Amino acid sequence: MNKLLQAGDTGYDEARSVWNAMVDRYPAAIARCHDTADVVAAVRFAREAGLEIGVRCGGHSIAGHAVPDGGLMIDLTPMNAVRVDPDRQLAWVQGGALLGELDKAAQQYGLATTAGNVSHTGVGGLTLGGGMGWLARQFGLACDNVASYELVTADGEVVRASADENAELFWGLRGGGGNFGIVTSFEFRLHHIGTRALVAEFTYPSSAGFDVLRAWRELNTTAPRQATFTASITADAVTVGYVWVGNGGFELLDAFRAMGPTDEHVEETSYLTLQSRDDNVQGHRYRRYWKGHYFKALPDDAIRALLRTPGVSASLQAYGGAIADVPDDDAAFSHRDTQFEFVTATRWEDPAEDESRIAQLREYAATLAPYASGAYLNVLNGDSISRAFPPAKLTRLTALKTAYDPANVFHLNQNIRPGGA
Ligand code: FAD
Repeated sequence: MNKLLQAGDTGYDEARSVWNAMVDRYPAAIARCHDTADVVAAVRFAREAGLEIGVRCGGHSIAGHAVPDGGLMIDLTPMNAVRVDPDRQLAWVQGGALLGELDKAAQQYGLATTAGNVSHTGVGGLTLGGGMGWLARQFGLACDNVASYELVTADGEVVRASADENAELFWGLRGGGGNFGIVTSFEFRLHHIGTRALVAEFTYPSSAGFDVLRAWRELNTTAPRQATFTASITADAVTVGYVWVGNGGFELLDAFRAMGPTDEHVEETSYLTLQSRDDNVQGHRYRRYWKGHYFKALPDDAIRALLRTPGVSASLQAYGGAIADVPDDDAAFSHRDTQFEFVTATRWEDPAEDESRIAQLREYAATLAPYASGAYLNVLNGDSISRAFPPAKLTRLTALKTAYDPANVFHLNQNIRPGGA
């Protein structure tokens, strides 16, 4: 194994710090892995020493699953290489890479694959749980674009999974999270997208929020796949609009202007700038909490409930398009009939506010639960795993977990428990 860090070593504190500042745990050791052999050695070492394993890629899990208190953190961040073959439109991405690294390498050729909206998020955690981004309505989720995986199992074996090799594992890795092993390499399909994007945001007073959100909901039903509709709701205002990837996208602007916004922000930008525009507001060092729901429909009553925010912000992002083209049984990822994903999130700095902040958010999310059809695996925060998978999927995932990780070695994740555990 290349390097083992312990408390007091240079780099230990940096490696154990993750996106959510509420997570302040001390692994017994941190294995900085540089290649697949390092990961194999780390898994075997942890098992022999009886240490709990946490796997770190981007460190953006809200619960801080990457950081085991007193265990071994398998830190993949040195494994961040991305290799692009522009002719075959493929990218090989190591398991510790961040989204920005993938986007930058692919965009040199006008290529991209679906990745999330903040460039310091990890390819690993995001893709294994599904991976929603501005290209998903055109090309499917990040996991829909993975052609193959290289994985280190709980026994320290290296296996490959693709449609032709270990097909059931391939099925489970597309949306089943980090349950089946440590992915050391993802092979992604890339798409020609050019380099342009358009962001359109229109703000209205909250008194107009109900009518605006209803009109926005209807417009979304006929929106082209290049457009991903967005909404954000605060106590004072409602902002709706869309992100468009590709050239053009101006034809939708008039419909929003006709609703009489008090402010508008229409920005032509590059795809790479789009992919990092929220990096600062979503920066590290804050204490964080979020809750999420999937909405298959957004009835008027749900809009009324959304507008009753107690001062926290809420956001909606449209699904549909290519996400829904994939038959539900094709991959572990579920709820492909989602129309909108809802997330309410809050950040603060003073630990004295922890309890009240969390309680307020939970209460708001609970008022929306009656309209929810499930939730995104990567957004679950103290929720049951059954919110991410319907019963038949969970049964199939449990069988796969039992086959690959019967002792639940990889349990610091959105955990699918093996049979008998
Ligand atoms: P980590 O904390 O490093 O990893 C989380 C878990 O993933 C690990 O505990 C492990 O179980 C597993 N894991 C990670 N890498 C590997 C690997 N190589 N092999 C095996 N298991 C692994 N989601 C979206 O879909 N779209 C978005 O646009 C989006 N935006 C986000 C923006 C921010 C600021 C944040 C904080 C989150 C966002 N998310 C988004 C949610 C994100 O997908 C999850 O938080 C995800 O867990 C982050 O992965 P990570 O690698 O950064 O996190």
